[in-house]
Amino acid sequence: MPELPEVETIRRGLENNVLFKRIENVTVGLPKIVRGDLSQFQAAIIGNQFTNISRRAKLLIFHLKKSEPQYLLIHLKMTGQLIYPTDQTLIAGGHPYPDFKSELPNKYTHLMFHFQDQSTLFFNDLRQFGYTQLATTDQLSQLVNSYGLEPGTPSFTWQAFKEKIDLRKRPVKSWLLDQQEIAGLGNIYADEVCLQAGILPNRNTGTLNDSQKHALYQAIKNIISQAIKHRGTTFRNYADHEGKKGGYAKFLQVYGRAEEKCLQCGSIIQKTKVAGRGTHYCPVCQQ
Ligand SMILES: [Zn+2]
Repeated sequence: MPELPEVETIRRGLENNVLFKRIENVTVGLPKIVRGDLSQFQAAIIGNQFTNISRRAKLLIFHLKKSEPQYLLIHLKMTGQLIYPTDQTLIAGGHPYPDFKSELPNKYTHLMFHFQDQSTLFFNDLRQFGYTQLATTDQLSQLVNSYGLEPGTPSFTWQAFKEKIDLRKRPVKSWLLDQQEIAGLGNIYADEVCLQAGILPNRNTGTLNDSQKHALYQAIKNIISQAIKHRGTTFRNYADHEGKKGGYAKFLQVYGRAEEKCLQCGSIIQKTKVAGRGTHYCPVCQQ
């Protein structure tokens, strides 16, 4: 699944290419990809324009010119991909199968936005967990408020972080993965955060002292900002908005390195399960 840095990278790519173009038509190949009433969806989109694209956690928020509803939401979930080919370049993000350079539309194309300049935004999804839906301002704020702290924004303060973590007693990694606690972290970055903070992923949050909590907070800030800067991580099933591989993969210190030597101390990186997810850690650097 694309994590926060990957979705942010897609957002930036699309923002530079699809805004303020009249949407002439929308083709829905798979009705279940659209949540809510299909004819209302089509009526709201056709003739409209995207004026902005924002993001909350891994949810993309397309702002519509004509309201209400004022927003179109897209969530890629596990295997969704957004592809916007132009003459010069291919803006694409999400799951890399089928290949971004495959013929479009293909059998995984479930939704197409046709713009006035003859260009098309394709929403493909191999396993069909992704979705799109219209949202009013009220619906959007409800949804936005249901997510936890957003790393990379001014609201992600040490005080806000401490208030949240102080209330919980559960394994650190499962706390990090909980979207209602910290928004946008997935399996890759949760492992990296734990290593950088020097904390074992299965350690209970209730046993951490303030300096360890602060180390976690700082590690989240560092890792998310570095990963966005390097356009995310390409690992197995992710490529970025130009179909290029994200550059963060070479910075991964622990994720995907089971049986290899820890880059800090030379011990062998271990792999286990925490919160039902494959989890990598250094038994010496992390406590
Ligand atoms: Zn180590």
